[in-house]
Amino acid sequence: MAIEEISKNALTVLEKRYLGKDENGNVLESVEDMFRRVSDTIAAVDANYDTSTNTRAQSDEFYELMTDLKFLPNSPTLMNAGRALGQLSACFVLPVEDSMEGIFDSVKNAALIHKSGGGTGFSFSRLRQSGSAVRSTGGVASGPVSFMKVFNAATEAVKQGGTRRGANMGVLRIDHPDILDFINCKANNSEITNFNISVGITEAFMEAVEKQSDYDLIDPKTKQAVGHLSAEKVFDMIVDHAWRNGEPGIIFLDRLNRDNVTPSQGEIESTNPCGEQPLLPYESCNLGSINLVKMLRKTLTGYELDFRLLGETVEKAVHFLDNVIDANNYPLEKISETTRASRKIGLGVMGWADALLMQGIPYNSDEAVELAERVMRYINNTGHAASARLAEKRGTFPLFSVSTLKDGPAMRNATVSTIAPTGTLSIIGGCSSGVEPVFAYAFIRNIMDGTEMIEVNPVLMAKLKELGLYNDDVLKKIASEGTIAHCEEIPEEVRRVFVCSHDIKPIDHIKMQAAFQKYTDNAVSKTVNFPKEATRNEVRDVYLLAYKEGCKGVTIYRDGSREEQVLNIGKVN
Ligand code: UDP
Repeated sequence: MAIEEISKNALTVLEKRYLGKDENGNVLESVEDMFRRVSDTIAAVDANYDTSTNTRAQSDEFYELMTDLKFLPNSPTLMNAGRALGQLSACFVLPVEDSMEGIFDSVKNAALIHKSGGGTGFSFSRLRQSGSAVRSTGGVASGPVSFMKVFNAATEAVKQGGTRRGANMGVLRIDHPDILDFINCKANNSEITNFNISVGITEAFMEAVEKQSDYDLIDPKTKQAVGHLSAEKVFDMIVDHAWRNGEPGIIFLDRLNRDNVTPSQGEIESTNPCGEQPLLPYESCNLGSINLVKMLRKTLTGYELDFRLLGETVEKAVHFLDNVIDANNYPLEKISETTRASRKIGLGVMGWADALLMQGIPYNSDEAVELAERVMRYINNTGHAASARLAEKRGTFPLFSVSTLKDGPAMRNATVSTIAPTGTLSIIGGCSSGVEPVFAYAFIRNIMDGTEMIEVNPVLMAKLKELGLYNDDVLKKIASEGTIAHCEEIPEEVRRVFVCSHDIKPIDHIKMQAAFQKYTDNAVSKTVNFPKEATRNEVRDVYLLAYKEGCKGVTIYRDGSREEQVLNIGKVN
């Protein structure tokens, strides 16, 4: 690999948390060693299916895929493949049963997952409401929110033993009697900090919002209606809280279950922490992302997507991710069984915004939305074809014959595509994250332990150099605002293309999310950014639009509404 391709920021991240170290913290591995460790481990799986396979040649193929930065598997695979821990998945969902044993089993299992670098999602909807009876003690139950605090404290204590801090998703159904407490539980920014929370919305609730009628609250134990609330008031309360500090998000439970390919195994109640991966209880999923910037080819006038190269990359990536399922050392036997029964993988993309910039297409244009559909349709179709070819060689996923896919082509994996946030992968890949627009053309990134990194978008950098505008004055101006919208030194035509999150209307964020969702088996990680002065009504409209456009959930963030932001504009001098 050309080591120069790895940026200084990427090296910092890799050295901190990915490269092997001795007990004194000395780095023992080079970046090349890390990629070789991963490719050897993942390629070795091939021998389980075909003893005549040349695993060295296969390792070379995977090694090149990663070192060319064309495709990267999720962080736990990079960190743990070929090491003692061996836990390779980013996403898990655990059940929370309505009993002390059940709750604290789940706390323990989450701790084990966090220790290994995975994130956990939970639905707290099965827990009885606060104030209801506890038969064995004669006392009263304290309700889902009080137990979320226990999970939160456990997460805080684990800190993922040197890999990464634990992340959680907490979901509560909209018809749970404690829903108002839940919506309010993160109003104070300093509480339940290790959770993202999402309200699990039902179609019945959305219909009640539209009709401005009441909806029933259901006792999780008896399944009887125990009260009712005005749907519109509750919806407005969710909007108000999200407007205040971005929480809660919403997920559309009926949609997640409409796409549940193995309904005989139970209901989907939750997603992983960042929302892109709905899973059944005890299921895990490994993700991987193709860097679209590396899928471009030069034309006479600029760049265009090379669909042949993309297709080849998808094929290799599906093979890689299917192998990860076998190479994985799962934290619990039950997770191993459940995951191997459906063999879900989540292949997605990163560098979408940068790839658009290089093609001269504004993110907030119809052309970009159309291309998003075309690209994702191609990835999804090619990915399914690759999974079908694997099924011929290796057999279908064990639950195939009872899955909703049983009448179609044989499949090796119950799901193939997911769009991850690629928070760290995009730093390693040196590209924009996931399918998000460029957040700011220059900004400071806070890494988890207080380290700050300055970043200038590489595509803009190249453009400014080409225009002879790469100088301190221009950079300072961009860095102070994040956007180049007001930078008159830069030609209008360039400014039209180089839009950032804050130049893009919320509706255009949703249109892009919906375009990718249309051809993604699982879900799309996307945050709709609002300017500080946005109104609650604008947030409300976006929630309704996400519902109308077929998104599986939505997360919003209004600039400045939390004291500690991961990304900040205007801090660079
Ligand atoms: N995740 C986690 N802790 C983190 C970041 C991510 O547990 O600090 C999990 C979580 O399930 C998230 C998923 O990893 O939804 C994918 O996140 P991302 O794509 O940002 O991870 P990367 O592979 O880039 O590190």
